[in-house]
Amino acid sequence: MTDLPVVVVGAGPIGLAAAAELRERGLPVVVFERGSRAGAAVAEWNHVRLFSRWAELIAPAGRRLLAGTGWVAPADADYPTGQDWVRDYLEPLAAALGDTVRFGTEVVGVARRGRDRVVDAGRDTEPLSVHLRRADGSADRITARAVIDASGTWTAPNPLGGDGLPALGERDRAAITYRVPDVEADLARYRGAHTVVAGSGHSALTAIVALSQLAGEPGTRLTWVLRRGGADAAFGGGEADELPARGALGLRAKQAVEDGLLTVVTGFRTAAAETGDDGRTVLIADDGRRIDGVDTVIALTGFRPDLSWLSEVRLELDPVLQAPVRLAPLIDPNVHSCGTVYPHGAAELSHPEPGVYLVGMKSYGRAPTFLAMTGYEQVRSVVAELAGDHESAARVELTLPETGVCGGGGVFDDADSANAGGCCAPAPAVLTLTAPSSQR
Ligand SMILES: Cc1cc2nc3c(=O)[nH]c(=O)nc-3n(C[C@H](O)[C@H](O)[C@H](O)COP(=O)(O)OP(=O)(O)OC[C@H]3O[C@@H](n4cnc5c(N)ncnc54)[C@H](O)[C@@H]3O)c2cc1C
Repeated sequence: MTDLPVVVVGAGPIGLAAAAELRERGLPVVVFERGSRAGAAVAEWNHVRLFSRWAELIAPAGRRLLAGTGWVAPADADYPTGQDWVRDYLEPLAAALGDTVRFGTEVVGVARRGRDRVVDAGRDTEPLSVHLRRADGSADRITARAVIDASGTWTAPNPLGGDGLPALGERDRAAITYRVPDVEADLARYRGAHTVVAGSGHSALTAIVALSQLAGEPGTRLTWVLRRGGADAAFGGGEADELPARGALGLRAKQAVEDGLLTVVTGFRTAAAETGDDGRTVLIADDGRRIDGVDTVIALTGFRPDLSWLSEVRLELDPVLQAPVRLAPLIDPNVHSCGTVYPHGAAELSHPEPGVYLVGMKSYGRAPTFLAMTGYEQVRSVVAELAGDHESAARVELTLPETGVCGGGGVFDDADSANAGGCCAPAPAVLTLTAPSSQR
């Protein structure tokens, strides 16, 4: 099978990093990307400035590959927007990989050749069969020795509904969007209007900070809706955050709340979205509370992995997070939110199905706080494993900045617990963990 290519799904930051690692190891690789360009998902949030610096957003293997191409590396300490990330790094990297990257090609299924998931025989001798759908509607399939699924979670945002299912009337309601707003480009939509932001992650904080700039303009209202009983934990670690821009985002959102630029509604679990007498949207919680007269609802309630096209391979996923079962306890937001993730690589990301790995944003399942640098280290380890370099695969080196928030997400229904934000101990120095898997 070693002559067969490794298929990488997705030409996002992590898929391209995987391809660069494979190229460096001399392993045949093909990347299939549904979109028409590199970083197609990132390009959909072009206007958002990242809280990571360039130094944390360029994969080591990507940097090495680009070094010989005349590429000018952006300044390490600068913070790019999504657009910068695509234009100044992802597109040049895809260009350097040449026809290894096939755009307009969606992976719609992965199976063991000639076998559905029930058949035991041949799972470690037969290649994988990767089913493709091209932008022109044609179908194809190729065989692969391994599949690295770096397809992200961008296409599967969580719904507004408090129970994880769409609220009644949520589907196809034009007033509800699931993307971080580009307030400057869309001023007409938000100025003089009532906007509700739902969610408690960094995207929600970004939206609140951007929209609160419009506070005070006639008729403009901003409401922030959280399922949890309190908002404080959502602000993150502030100055204790080892990613300063991430900490600053929380502090700016907190300031906007303290300045009274928005209304905070906590413990609100949306059950229905209806049309009010004035033709605008009304949100109704499962306890009967209502938020009336809403022009736009921005649901930023996280993402979930699309596992539908992996139905015929044997994955071992955590029942809570839908992340690889050995990774899940390390990233469970119910247990901790420090952002420290135990170094993990091929061993933690493998499944009963040989040669299938979920990496990048998708590897986190429903857990928040994924960072690109985590994914870069994941694919370095996975590719080393595929190359037979087991020692390098096991030597996972991960340096992760802490969020400055300790403890879990708090008891869901308890306001005091949900408000217990801030770090319970001074943020330790950034740790570089290099213990081989065998020592853990
Ligand atoms: C608003 C926002 C801000 C963020 N800020 C930061 C930050 O500051 N720092 C940070 O480290 N991370 C940040 N993140 C997280 C960030 O998304 C990831 O670090 C990074 O984009 C994950 O890369 P990925 O390659 O795993 O997934 P993606 O970037 O989602 O790329 C997946 C690719 O796969 C393609 N694809 C999907 N399905 C298929 C299919 N079936 N077949 C073929 N192709 C497919 C998609 O089109 C896409 O190009 C942010 C995320 C968001 C939404």
